Amino acid sequence: MVNEKRLVESFMELVKIDSISREERNLAGFLVEKLEDLGLEVTVDQAGEKAKSNSGNIIARLKGNIKEATPIMFSAHMDTVVPGNNIKPICEGDKVVSNGKTILGADDKAAIAALLEALRIIKENNIPRGDIEIVFSICEEIGLLGAKNLDISSLNARMAFILDSGGQVGEIINSAPSQNSLKIIFHGKSAHAGSNPEEGINAIQIAGFALSRMKLGRIDEETTVNIGIISGGKATNIVPDEVTLEGEVRSRNEEKLEKYTKKLKQTAEDTAQEFKAKAEVKINREYYCYNLSTDNQVIKIAMKAAKDMGLEPELRPSGGGSDANVFSKKGFPSVVLAIGMEKVHTVNEYILVKNLKKTAEYVLSIINTVTPGENFINE
Ligand SMILES: [Zn+2]
Repeated sequence: MVNEKRLVESFMELVKIDSISREERNLAGFLVEKLEDLGLEVTVDQAGEKAKSNSGNIIARLKGNIKEATPIMFSAHMDTVVPGNNIKPICEGDKVVSNGKTILGADDKAAIAALLEALRIIKENNIPRGDIEIVFSICEEIGLLGAKNLDISSLNARMAFILDSGGQVGEIINSAPSQNSLKIIFHGKSAHAGSNPEEGINAIQIAGFALSRMKLGRIDEETTVNIGIISGGKATNIVPDEVTLEGEVRSRNEEKLEKYTKKLKQTAEDTAQEFKAKAEVKINREYYCYNLSTDNQVIKIAMKAAKDMGLEPELRPSGGGSDANVFSKKGFPSVVLAIGMEKVHTVNEYILVKNLKKTAEYVLSIINTVTPGENFINE
């Protein structure tokens, strides 16, 4: 039923609309119109004010025509990373690429295109379904800010399918880590580097010592630690009084997350103390992990829908957070589904046309799975 030509054209149209994080307004305006044309009730929420974006999240609802069908929510994010303005997509036979100067934006506009195509097919064929809710979020790439500021009480659905992962269609991400971010500021003491260095305390050197004592990288199968930014110092003739390290700890295990976060903090503080300096450590919880077993309704539906299409569903964990972490924390079982996008967040990003098509078909298959009929899964 999927119209491949229409789907590819729609995808290419979407990626041409600039929508880097906090600048989603033009895309949102375009999508609101499309969704209304397809018969959905559409609202844009106030999340933009808190996320400092020029748009809010889009929340849209297609009324069901089968009362017994389970209401479900699908979500994708509108924002892209940089370089993401002035994207010129090229369809090279079986795949869509950028011109090499920007990302493509298949992350996550391939999902948006697939959802729009599924909605067109539903409308054209008056397909039996329950309420279908669509959330197009803002600012996913800069800390899941749209999802964090979304009021889920306005939704009828109590489970969500988030279309936002690389990997083959049919891969189901049933667990994702928690993340803490850390900012460590070493406060030393400035002095003239040539005339009286003995009066200074070199914050760069303290940071260097502390770094050499921190275990970074993959700690175990479910935990990673990274320091990704170091900044400080003003001139070569000044003993630097301040250096900042910024990093993160991720784990699918809450206890380990706290343990390794504390360890970094302790290392920074102990090292600073040895130099008679101070370390100021700011820890921020970015998001919480989720782990869904095969007994969970949302997983059952995702697996069944994949099987019905002739795919071999595969459950796997993710090393990263997504809007699903936020929705799950709000008590809304959410699963991330792979959509076949490749090399995301690089200028080599691409997507195969067949994966765009499969993603749209998967959406339809999920809707079919929660609608009474031979494939029905009831709550
Ligand atoms: Zn994404």
